[in-house]
Amino acid sequence: MVKTSYRRSPKEKARIAEIFSRFEAKTDHPRTELNYRSPFELVSAVALSAQATDISVNKATARLFPIAPTPQAMLDLGVERLIPYISSIGLYRGKAARLIEMSRILVEQHGGEVPLGREALQALPGVGRKTASVVLNELGIEPAIAVDTHVFRVSHRLKLSTAKTPDAVEAELTAIIPAPYLTRAHHWLILHGRYTCVARKPKCPECLIADLCPSRDLFY
Ligand code: SF4
Repeated sequence: MVKTSYRRSPKEKARIAEIFSRFEAKTDHPRTELNYRSPFELVSAVALSAQATDISVNKATARLFPIAPTPQAMLDLGVERLIPYISSIGLYRGKAARLIEMSRILVEQHGGEVPLGREALQALPGVGRKTASVVLNELGIEPAIAVDTHVFRVSHRLKLSTAKTPDAVEAELTAIIPAPYLTRAHHWLILHGRYTCVARKPKCPECLIADLCPSRDLFY
């Protein structure tokens, strides 16, 4: 049964559909801006990106991944030799320890492969719900919406959700975004928040959905 707070009027449903239709018209296949060549590199990059920018992670992994592209190679590298590669990223000591531990579990319990189910993914060190959602969504396995600071802010400004926590916003977005857009919605909302609907001074005059946004007047 649909939660009452998730119900939308026909007019509101049309507005939401139009928002995502315009995102699609602009960027049909949005992707993460993290660089990766395999599920292992993807899950590693996403885990490293917590409280760090994609740009800083890409700089670090451009040097790290060529020498440690697999769980076994990462395990062989070890924490102390891994740290210099990622020391420019926030919280690097904890991230290094978890990345090596994750690699150990992948080698010992999963034959060196990344398990592509939510439960097994979230059981890995350093992989929380948000990281698992990004990985599963990026690989086209599960239409998940990981709610980071950008998605949270944009969802509120567009009045897609007024929920107070990332998990509640995720549940509401999942319920109200039309199915054909669900797999890509996460990326569109992040990109919109990163480049247009930025935190301090959103670029409303150049926003492609300004006429559909209830917050637009707040920023003029
Ligand atoms: S109109 Fe402004 S506040 Fe609304 S989504 Fe666009 S940039 Fe954000």
